[in-house]
Amino acid sequence: MRRVCFVLLLLVFPLLVQSQPNTVRIGVLSIFHPHELTIAADPTGELMIAAGGQRIFLQQGSNCSLLRVRSAGENLLLSCNTVELRGGELHASGRNQQSAGLVITLPGKIKRRYVGVLELKAMRGELFPIITMDLETAVASVILAETTPGTPLEALRAQAIVSRSYFVSGGGRHSEFDFCDLTHCQFLREPPASDSPAANAAASTQGLVLTYEEKSVAAMFTRSCGGRTRTLEEIRVSQKGYPYFSVRCDFCYNNPVRWARKVSREDEELLKLRGENGRLAIGRRLGWNAVPSNNFTAQETGGEVTLSGVGQGHGLGLCQRGARGMAEGGSDFRAILDRYFPNTRLQALPSFP
Ligand SMILES: [Zn+2]
Ligand SMILES: [Zn+2]
Repeated sequence: MRRVCFVLLLLVFPLLVQSQPNTVRIGVLSIFHPHELTIAADPTGELMIAAGGQRIFLQQGSNCSLLRVRSAGENLLLSCNTVELRGGELHASGRNQQSAGLVITLPGKIKRRYVGVLELKAMRGELFPIITMDLETAVASVILAETTPGTPLEALRAQAIVSRSYFVSGGGRHSEFDFCDLTHCQFLREPPASDSPAANAAASTQGLVLTYEEKSVAAMFTRSCGGRTRTLEEIRVSQKGYPYFSVRCDFCYNNPVRWARKVSREDEELLKLRGENGRLAIGRRLGWNAVPSNNFTAQETGGEVTLSGVGQGHGLGLCQRGARGMAEGGSDFRAILDRYFPNTRLQALPSFP
C-alpha cells in the first residue's frame, strides 16, 4: 500500500533531484539537564543495549527489564538487575540495530516514548540522549506537538510539509545532532497514534517538501502573524536560500492577536538594533512571552517603554492561525502553502525507507 501511495505521489509531483537522508538525529530531553535516566523496551518489544563492548537485552518480564543509567563525568554507569557496566557511549536499538520503541524516564520529571535508535553520551556529568528516527515519524511527532487539537486536516497537511522541509534542509544549528526537540528547531514529543489526525496528515503527504530553485526550503512557521507575514530583512535576520515574502494573512488581518508589554529602554534599544535576535535574547532572559512578536509600535513614558503589538512568534512563513482559518474556509494544503510560500513548488523526495 505504501509503495502504491509513493508511485501515485510521483505521478502528481515532480521528483526532487537531490539526495536526502530519510532519517533525522534529534537531541531530546536536554532541557532537563539529566544526570540519570532509565530505559525500557515497549511492553511486547525487545531492546538491544550495546555499551562498553558488551550487549544486554532488555525485555519486560525478563531478568533485565529496566536499565538504569547514571553519568560519571564523561562516562556512563549502567545497571540492570545484577549486571553492572561502564562505558563511554550507549546504543539502544532492535536486535538487528533497527528502529525500536523505547521509553526513557527521567526520575521524578518525565517519561517519554520514542521510536528509533538511541545514542547516549555523557558530557561534563550531563546525559545527552540522541534519537535517530525515521523522517516521517519525526514529522508526525512535530505535527502532534506543534498544533492544537481540532486543527483541520488540510492545515495539518500544510504543517506536515513545512516541518518535513525544515527537517530536510534546516539542520546545522547544533554540533552533536541535527535538531533539538524544542521550539528552537521544532517542538517534538512522542509519535502520535497511527490512526490520529497528525499521523494521517504526515502519511497523506509522505515525502513531499517545498522547494525553491530546485532545492528544498528550510521552511519556517509562526503561531500567528498579526495580519501579514514578515520578510527576513524586516526582522533583521540574514539567511541564504528562500527569500521570505511578506504576504497578507486574511484571518489574522481581520482578527489579529493583540498584545501589550512594558520593557526597559535598554531592551527597546536591543529590539530596534537587533530585531528578532534581540527579541530572542530578551526571551532567554525574561521568558518567551516577554515580547510575543516582532510586530509592534513603541511608546515611551517615564523611563519605561510600552510595546503594542500583534501576532505571536517570528512571523516568517506559514502562519498556523491563518492556515487553520484558510482550511476552515475550504482551502486545501496546496492553496495554504501557495499563500504563505510564494514562488515555491511541491516536490517529492527521491528516497523512502
Ligand atoms: Zn535546536
Ligand atoms: Zn496570520
